[in-house]
Amino acid sequence: MACRQVKAKRELIRVVRDADGKLSVDLRGKSPGRGAYLCPDDACLARGIDDGSLGRALEVTIDEATTQLLRDELAVGADRKRSGEGGLRPTEAEGPPKPEQAKPAKVSGLKGRTG
Ligand SMILES: [Zn+2]
Repeated sequence: MACRQVKAKRELIRVVRDADGKLSVDLRGKSPGRGAYLCPDDACLARGIDDGSLGRALEVTIDEATTQLLRDELAVGADRKRSGEGGLRPTEAEGPPKPEQAKPAKVSGLKGRTG
């Protein structure tokens, strides 16, 4: 945990380091690799990078480009958390299609004989 604040994991954003040592924000929280949790805000990320706690937690050196990348991804992640991720409605179950009703054949009688 790079952040000192104690929060529920689902309120935090996970930063994960992949096999190549690249960092990314793991929005689903399921990416393999070494991870650290941060609050979904810029200040928390900046502090973690600034005091080196995030780099230590992930055992990686965070450069300028990575900082920028993480800020961007964290902003997206924070946005999703705010808008309520996972609010998908279950798909409505539809019944089997109704068979088309056979129309009774109309008997057209002959009208009016000529003669
Ligand atoms: Zn924090």
